[in-house]
Amino acid sequence: MKVGVVALQGDVREHREVLDALGVDAPDVRSPEDLAALDALILPGGESTTISQLLRSSGLLDALTERVADGLAVLGTCAGAILLATEVLDGRPDQCSLGALDVTVRRNGYGTQLQSFEADLDLDGSDGRPFPGVFIRAPVFERVGDAVDVLAVHDGHPVLVRQGPVWASTFHPELSGDLRIHQRFVDQDHNRYPKGER
Ligand code: GLN
Repeated sequence: MKVGVVALQGDVREHREVLDALGVDAPDVRSPEDLAALDALILPGGESTTISQLLRSSGLLDALTERVADGLAVLGTCAGAILLATEVLDGRPDQCSLGALDVTVRRNGYGTQLQSFEADLDLDGSDGRPFPGVFIRAPVFERVGDAVDVLAVHDGHPVLVRQGPVWASTFHPELSGDLRIHQRFVDQDHNRYPKGER
């Protein structure tokens, strides 16, 4: 099992450490060639406007958009979630998106860095133990499409969602010390979503 981590900016190392702990091979993805042999992909948190620019300049944007549209599983956390959304509010006008997840997301929806917080989350379908949600200048999902499953909610807003093989959290599971979300992402049936079937 190979889960690539898009390594342009942000908390790449933290995702890699979680995948290492799960015994999953986690190569860095920096160019279109790095996408070749992957079973799944992670788009880390960081700064979505910066990652957006680097996706363009590295040539990764088109290749990534195509692989994800083909059914490659992807988990986007925080800035990564913004980069997956079909609609971004309060983004930069030139900010790009993979358009793979039918949500409207507002950047910095809770306010500035000072409004960063931690909250215990109830994970749908989990063992009942709360998941420690770490929210850092987090975005807010203001709308989710009908095809999107909501797996956790905080303060009336979805914070962990899934549309087939496309997963996104507005918080940082990679910073929580809890492996359950990565585990579920890795354990999903990766052959279930061929092109066009989600
Ligand atoms: N506010 C950042 C953005 O717009 C996301 C913050 C994060 O990833 N922790 O990209």
